[in-house]
Amino acid sequence: MLKLATFTDLQELQHTLGLYCLRCDRWGEADLAGLISSGRGHRRVVESRFRCRSCGELVDKQLRPPVPEVGGAVGYIGG
Ligand SMILES: [Zn+2]
Repeated sequence: MLKLATFTDLQELQHTLGLYCLRCDRWGEADLAGLISSGRGHRRVVESRFRCRSCGELVDKQLRPPVPEVGGAVGYIGG
């Protein structure tokens, strides 16, 4: 079981935190490195709140696992 409680946990496990503003219909991503370097790495992701830079509305969070490596595998079968 992965421990993904804090911003530091997310970064160590190569996860990112997507942020979505419903009002602006705009996606962004939390600046994990910035949060950690400013001393907020220990904060709990679930309890954290982010606001849209454009409209100031509270935004939705989406935990994003690392994108798997494709590794050169062929993803299709020829006919
Ligand atoms: Zn917005």
